[in-house]
Amino acid sequence: MQTHDSPAADDILSIARQRKPVFWLNPDYEASEDGSAQPHEPHKATLRLARQARAMQSLFPELRHTQGRVESALMRVPNLQHVQQSGIRMPGSVDAAAEGASATGTWWVKRDDELPVAGSIKARGGFHEVLALAESLLEKQAHATGQVIAAIDSPQARAVFSQYTVAVGSTGNLGLSIGLIAAALGFKSVVHMSQVAKAWKKDRLRSRGISVVEHAGDYAAAVEAGRRAAALDPSIHFVDDEQSRLLFLGYAAAARELQQQLMANGVVVDAAHPLFVYIPCGVGGAPGGIAYGLKRLFGANVHCFFAQPVASPSMLVQLASGSAAPVSVYDMGLDNRTDADGLAVAQASMLVAPLMKRMLSGVFTVEDDTLFSDIYRCNESEGFRVEPSAAAAFRGPLWLMQTASGRAYLQRHGITDGMAGSNHVLWSTGGSLVPDAEHDRFQARGRLLETAAQD
Ligand SMILES: *Cc1c(COP(=O)(O)O)cnc(C)c1O
Repeated sequence: MQTHDSPAADDILSIARQRKPVFWLNPDYEASEDGSAQPHEPHKATLRLARQARAMQSLFPELRHTQGRVESALMRVPNLQHVQQSGIRMPGSVDAAAEGASATGTWWVKRDDELPVAGSIKARGGFHEVLALAESLLEKQAHATGQVIAAIDSPQARAVFSQYTVAVGSTGNLGLSIGLIAAALGFKSVVHMSQVAKAWKKDRLRSRGISVVEHAGDYAAAVEAGRRAAALDPSIHFVDDEQSRLLFLGYAAAARELQQQLMANGVVVDAAHPLFVYIPCGVGGAPGGIAYGLKRLFGANVHCFFAQPVASPSMLVQLASGSAAPVSVYDMGLDNRTDADGLAVAQASMLVAPLMKRMLSGVFTVEDDTLFSDIYRCNESEGFRVEPSAAAAFRGPLWLMQTASGRAYLQRHGITDGMAGSNHVLWSTGGSLVPDAEHDRFQARGRLLETAAQD
């Protein structure tokens, strides 16, 4: 047997420091923690998104076929499951053949890479926050003037919104989400971005009339600049990716959507049929909201894992350090430079990290080369292309099945026998707005890595 069943936090952090992939199991995880004592109410976000579906449909023609709902498909991926399970040995894997690695359940991909309008997981959170802002401005208007404006997509509402600016700091995808809906409702909008953010994202924003302000430094510097500008001007609403409750709740609405899709597919979630969910994590808002929502619905029967780049394991260092104060990947000597631009975040959200302390099962990290290999494998096996960040979770189940610490986790929670009935959701988080030429480059790099690996 391995001697490092559950490597100590210090060991994990020292491996992480060397930019090597690690699988960290959260020692503070409590199966009974379902978030019910927390004040955040995901169903309110679900209701708000439903309430504004008619307006969303009129603002965005691409939402017509879903009657204004912003949803993505849940897709079975038997071919991806097969290629991932048959050809890959994770670092520290134990002899899989001897221990019945076949009882691995069913893999799914949650296709947020195709979420309409915004093309990424940022759609639910971003839309929810701007819709909440729009509703509250109309309420204030009614109080102040007695003029009741019911529809947020009416010319009267637009006249109100045009006096306000919605600002956001972003690595790209949140800017697209917020910028597009704010502009559609008639707000002015400003996106603060790092200079290193992708050029096509800046171009797309500008082509929709959204101002892009570029900042030297990383994502956090862009957020801070936006926050400062908004603090001086009451007509600017700043969407704070590091601290926003409205974003978090919008993301959490994905949990109910997944629950309904599992039911529609006849998938049962109970002690004999555990659900495992693997989600790419940057600042933590999107995956944290989803994990929170899922814990409320499924309690001990859902197990949530986050995936982060080896250069940017922000949630890993925050939780594994056990510190109540913010810890950044720079403190660990890491540089936060990764091709997974949606995940290039040095410091986890301090709204989300404490909420995850007892709910999150673990975090694993992934090298950039692996992301390119996996977007290529995904396209070859299932025929769809995602951006590098979106593939961060595609080896999640392997960590659990192949490593001693993964198996120890399953044993500890009494689910080794239930693995044949288990379901594994890999959350795919972005890609449908990425230009074809960019996808071609990503795929070429993946193909090269995969061919080299076969020699
Ligand atoms: C933002 C983003 C994530 C992670 O969300 P956070 O709230 O930053 O943790 C994952 N994938 C993609 C493509 C993203 O844009």
